Amino acid sequence: MAKTIRETAREIRIFSETEVVVVGGGPAGVAAAVAAARGGAKTILVERYGHLGGMSTGGLVILIPFLSDGTTSRQIAGLCQEMIDRLDAMGAAVHPKDEEVGSTDPKILNYWRRRGHGGFISGGAVRYGALVDPEMLKCVLNDMVEESGVKLLLHSWGSRAIAEDDKVQGMIFESKSGRQAILSQITIDTTGDGDMFASVGAEFDDTIDRSVRSSNLALVFRIANVDADKYADFRDKEKTRHDELMKELTSQGGFNTYWRSSRPDILWCNNWIPNLSALSVEDLTWVEVNARKSMLLSHKFLKQNVPGFENSFIMDTASQIGTRGSGRLIGEHVVTWQDVLSGVVHEDSIAVLPHLGQTVSKGFPHVYIPYRALLPRRIDNLLVAGRCFSSDVNANNSLNWIQQCIPTGQAAGAAAALAIKQGTIPRKIDRKSLQASLLKQGVTLPGVTIESRSVSPAQRTSVG
Ligand SMILES: Cc1cc2nc3c(=O)[nH]c(=O)nc-3n(C[C@H](O)[C@H](O)[C@H](O)COP(=O)(O)OP(=O)(O)OC[C@H]3O[C@@H](n4cnc5c(N)ncnc54)[C@H](O)[C@@H]3O)c2cc1C
Repeated sequence: MAKTIRETAREIRIFSETEVVVVGGGPAGVAAAVAAARGGAKTILVERYGHLGGMSTGGLVILIPFLSDGTTSRQIAGLCQEMIDRLDAMGAAVHPKDEEVGSTDPKILNYWRRRGHGGFISGGAVRYGALVDPEMLKCVLNDMVEESGVKLLLHSWGSRAIAEDDKVQGMIFESKSGRQAILSQITIDTTGDGDMFASVGAEFDDTIDRSVRSSNLALVFRIANVDADKYADFRDKEKTRHDELMKELTSQGGFNTYWRSSRPDILWCNNWIPNLSALSVEDLTWVEVNARKSMLLSHKFLKQNVPGFENSFIMDTASQIGTRGSGRLIGEHVVTWQDVLSGVVHEDSIAVLPHLGQTVSKGFPHVYIPYRALLPRRIDNLLVAGRCFSSDVNANNSLNWIQQCIPTGQAAGAAAALAIKQGTIPRKIDRKSLQASLLKQGVTLPGVTIESRSVSPAQRTSVG
């Protein structure tokens, strides 16, 4: 048994009283806060770091793929599309054109295979997705939050939720201004790790299956001044030599995966560091130190051996360690791998996702996320969205991508706003009203298809 000490009880200043507090400002948290505020709720967003975006900015995870299923229809739209549209207007996103989505033309496929390194293609067709500039995305997310009237608190680490009789009443956070409380009618946990639900005794599962992608930690870094076309040519034309070199690099303890970014001269290193926990401070520290050693080794090797990297330099490392999976809520409904395979349509579906299993293919069914997967079983006034939503380890492994976390965040925010309006708790809101509200916001739901990205948000809501 670990030794313990008892902390002295103390009075805590109430920073604010609000209707909705969202804890964690990653893709899901921003979507939740914006949707809650646009729905009319007085909303505070609390983020531990100095910027918004979580993995999609600070984690340097700059590929938002698979918003469509290989046909011309779009499954994911809503706030995810709004973010990409806003980046587009700044020249900060690269994505297939509307007329290219669903294409099986070998020339177009080849272009996007080389430009996106697989993120824009599967099942032999072009799928909609985007490579984004993470610094511009930080600015876009600030704008969206500010314009929707959310009160933003950066540099504020959520320590725990406050609950009495299984009813959450807000949360406590630490910052340079000390330890303070926010009282709220509804709390939304978008911390990725479930910090809030874990603190109030909600049921959750943090077991890790070492065989799945999401069990791996990472420290993404970017390499600039690369001739990415020269590297792509080498990979294509001398595949055996390329693969041999990458095998040698791996055997020396280096990283072997370098993907395209929104810029032609910058690659990002996606890496998978196994057998560690995103909830262990010692494991997180180990990654920060040792991944940088591997980065130096890798870059030296690439410069010396791999065409395209001759004049390159390490541009930056992610300010935020890469965590793909940890605590997952056990909610009213647990989305299972069987749900993913079967494509079961739930009556309370709040998001439709193109399939993204081990074999990404347009032959697979869409995945429907029920509202119940955002609701804890016993604890009230709490919603959960993003990668810690209620799902088993295999379903979570294929449903915790950025474009999938944003819709659950949007739904949680819309549900919170509705609960405030209806004077009820999230568990009791009218689910059809929630779906209607999401449709109005440009989200696609069963029976709704989007034929073109250029249609207006109003057109996107038509129910087919
Ligand atoms: C290396 C790597 C590569 C990946 N590749 C892809 C890819 O190519 N495409 C893709 O779509 N997805 C990819 N993913 C998955 C995807 O990035 C994440 O699953 C997704 O960002 C999860 O979104 P989220 O909002 O749930 O959580 P996060 O992005 O983790 O955001 C959580 C936010 O909460 C904040 N937070 C956490 N705890 C607290 C607290 N106690 N108090 C206050 N704030 C807190 C964090 O700082 C962060 O801003 C990858 C992930 C990694 C790590």
